[in-house]
Amino acid sequence: MLFKGKEAADGIVSELLNEDLSNLTLAVFHPLNDGAAESYLKTKEKWLKKINAKIEVVPVDEKMTQDEFFRNLEILNKDTSITGIMVELPLPVKIPEKELLTRINPFKDVDGITYFNQGRIFTSRNEELIPCTAAASIKLLEHYRIDFAGKNVLVIGRSYIVGLPLFKLFLNRNATPAVAHRGTCNLQNMIHNADIVAICAGTRGIVKSSEIKDGASVVDVGIHVTGEGKVVGDMIIDQENEENRINYSPVPGGVGTVTNAMMLHNLVQCRKLQNQTD
Ligand code: NAD
Repeated sequence: MLFKGKEAADGIVSELLNEDLSNLTLAVFHPLNDGAAESYLKTKEKWLKKINAKIEVVPVDEKMTQDEFFRNLEILNKDTSITGIMVELPLPVKIPEKELLTRINPFKDVDGITYFNQGRIFTSRNEELIPCTAAASIKLLEHYRIDFAGKNVLVIGRSYIVGLPLFKLFLNRNATPAVAHRGTCNLQNMIHNADIVAICAGTRGIVKSSEIKDGASVVDVGIHVTGEGKVVGDMIIDQENEENRINYSPVPGGVGTVTNAMMLHNLVQCRKLQNQTD
């Protein structure tokens, strides 16, 4: 079976349409002269329109100083007309990661990356603000009613934005997750034994579909653009008709689509959290 992102994303958006969606605004720190960031911005605009939310773009070029960046951030943190804040990385100005992860208002942290929100993920079962891609991977599996309890899960990649929160989300669902990384020795064995594999390594070909055991499920978070301009994931499909033998999310059309819907979900969530603290 193919895990099609559009079905899960449509479900998330239609649930949001029952909520109060008035006056939502997402502020985005947007790197100038960056083709990839340009296309991410267009995608954000397209998705925000689905819930009638506005976008406020803060252009960042190499002339912006760290002080200017943080002054802008402080203004947005305090501005009650701004619901959520995202920083499109990498920025042309070098921002120390620790500063970034402490200084975004945690109740406007649409990406769930601040120490406050990461701490909450790891010290509780609270799932109010989870990094969009990690949350999207779980939502996609849940949409297709994949069982987690007691399953052997392999998460490949340990970034704080995808692999680590995903590990905790599997744990919250009583799965038994393992995390593989660059220092892992027996990756092929681990892949072969897993009931669910979440690939978030950003390494094309780290998994071949033939290595996945019969009936297992794969969410592929990786995004790569080939020389011919084709968008592909981390997993190489090296046998025909794999969708009859295993379950997997295609790239494009899998996790990425749900990630955009989770951005909308988290924006609405930010407003709820702000209202609770008023
Ligand atoms: P990252 O580079 O921060 O982290 C990658 C992780 O994978 C690291 O922990 C590293 O140890 C591990 N890894 C890399 N190569 C490995 C190998 N050969 N063996 C074992 N472990 C290995 O990347 P990230 O920000 O987590 O993003 C991962 C991928 O997901 C990228 O391709 C990125 O473009 C994509 N991404 C997709 C979405 C989406 O919406 N689908 C969103 C964000 C990122």
